[in-house]
Amino acid sequence: MQTTSSQFPALTREALANRTLQDSLDGVRRIMPELRTAALNEMPDFEATCDRAAEIRNTAIARLDEYLQQFERQVQAAGGQVHWAATGDEACQIIGRICSAAGAEKIIKSKSMVTEEIELNAWLEDPEAGDRRFEVTETDLGEYIIQLRGEKPSHILAPSLHVTLEEVAETFHAHHKIERQQPLSDPADMLREARQVLRDKFLAADVGITGANFLVAETGGVVIVTNEGNADLTACLPDTHIVVTGIEKVVPTLDDVGVLLRVLARSAIGERLSNYTTFVQGPRRTGDSSGPGNYHVVLLDNGRSNLLGTEFQDMLRCIRCSACLNHCPVYTAIGGHAYGSVYSGPMGAVLTPAFAGLSPAAHLPNASTFCGRCESVCPVRIPLPKMLRHWREQEFHQKMAPAGQRIGLQWWAILNRRPSIYRGAMRLVAITLRRFSTTGENGRRWIRRLPWLGAAWTQHRDMAAPASESFQTQWRRRESAK
Ligand code: SF4
Repeated sequence: MQTTSSQFPALTREALANRTLQDSLDGVRRIMPELRTAALNEMPDFEATCDRAAEIRNTAIARLDEYLQQFERQVQAAGGQVHWAATGDEACQIIGRICSAAGAEKIIKSKSMVTEEIELNAWLEDPEAGDRRFEVTETDLGEYIIQLRGEKPSHILAPSLHVTLEEVAETFHAHHKIERQQPLSDPADMLREARQVLRDKFLAADVGITGANFLVAETGGVVIVTNEGNADLTACLPDTHIVVTGIEKVVPTLDDVGVLLRVLARSAIGERLSNYTTFVQGPRRTGDSSGPGNYHVVLLDNGRSNLLGTEFQDMLRCIRCSACLNHCPVYTAIGGHAYGSVYSGPMGAVLTPAFAGLSPAAHLPNASTFCGRCESVCPVRIPLPKMLRHWREQEFHQKMAPAGQRIGLQWWAILNRRPSIYRGAMRLVAITLRRFSTTGENGRRWIRRLPWLGAAWTQHRDMAAPASESFQTQWRRRESAK
């Protein structure tokens, strides 16, 4: 799993200066929380259902080995094969072997973050791979657009969030060999054109690769949630279907899936359900009119089992709904590419160091204001800020943070242990900061620009000036007035 965390500061500056990206992110910032709130308002038992969803995921993770083995037995009983991959490279090799054995040339895929994580497309399309080189086509519209553009997803659900309509039109003009009456400008025409191109790819494919939202231990079923129905065609049309997914996706029963689906789409896109929820249950059976002749499930570890029994185990509950991204003030300011990893936002800032190691991803746990919104919207109650703090502690203790930052934190710790000195220091800081402030339109005082180390803070936004009286002073005054 590649990360470019070392470039995080530069990528962040680039993202903040990119007006087009900022417009797209503004849409996420404004619209997604509204949609989620509206969906929750019509489900009075939403919070209780989230508690139940977290319980289900905890039960699955606590007995992961048992449920995975039960799942494997059920898949085998249905005529499918299960493959265990310890690393991303192992998963790619397994998938390559299955495709070669199927005599495949053309592969279609539906959206899967796990295949992004292991960089499966690059492996399958590797020009130096000789005989085992395949043509891979993404069939989710967003993934298809970024595949044509040679880009990475910038959001786990909306991978082409950063691409404008004009850029989509340019991309289709450059790649589609289609005669048109006039240049593309209407989104409906673009969609029609993509559908026309992809339809031929679906019909010609030898292998279909999908991800999975959930694996059901009791039935051996795989649940795939999409908005475009492309996973159904990917799973059904080619003669070989390969499911690639992380080991943590297993849940004990089909009833459990019902609970998780109730919170997944509401948290993700503010809908009761996604447009398509597909249940896959092995290869074509005698008498079935359609379906693949060969069926494989590749279960990927890639660092997941290392989280068991650690302070990061709760992260394995994640159902990739993206609510934490949509509500994060950092993600909605810089977008996904700045994180330099396929998993972005708060969940990515926890997962990436877990999968890639802290050293190449050390910037990411620091990309948080600790406002706590991610935890409050997470439908499976993952304490994301607590885990980000654990990573920061490790960064500090392993001396990965810059010396200036470590010294600053040591001073901060000293101050915090001495309340009277702390209060005096804070008073001094507040007085100093207020000297830099001016009165804004609403009568509040704002700091437009800070010198020296503070300059980075005010480079892209104003900072609210501290109140003239601290909270503690106001509290004491009110108490004595009672
Ligand atoms: S951490 Fe929670 S909110 Fe974020 S993607 Fe995972 S399940 Fe959704």
